[in-house]
Amino acid sequence: MHCTNCGQEIANNAAVCTHCGVAVGQEKKFCANCGQAVNANQAICLGCGCAIATNRPNEQNKSVASLVLGLVGLIAWFIPLFGAPVSIVGLVLGVRKKYTTGIVLNVIGLVLTVANAAIGAYQGATGQYPLFN
Ligand SMILES: [Zn+2]
Ligand SMILES: [Zn+2]
Repeated sequence: MHCTNCGQEIANNAAVCTHCGVAVGQEKKFCANCGQAVNANQAICLGCGCAIATNRPNEQNKSVASLVLGLVGLIAWFIPLFGAPVSIVGLVLGVRKKYTTGIVLNVIGLVLTVANAAIGAYQGATGQYPLFN
């Protein structure tokens, strides 16, 4: 990709340009895809037709949020009232951002939460004492 501030080529996963030091996506002076100079008001680059990226850092943050919620869900599954909402929110974020790791983690967290709630309800109904509640 190209730096959107100076137009130099930089690594695809760079957070800050190694030529000018400006954070990726902060400026809109150049196309991130082809490096052509663009106007900040343009919706797409006239050189390659790509959308002019402005919100890449935000998208990364949502993926990270999905990952964190997934991990929290894996730990919190034994408290259904806490684990279920965490896993559901994380799952929604993961699906919106097409973030596979977040989706998988949150599905596992949700399954564990539901399984634990079902076991707890069954044991409560049959008069047994749950081991982990
Ligand atoms: Zn730069
Ligand atoms: Zn372009």
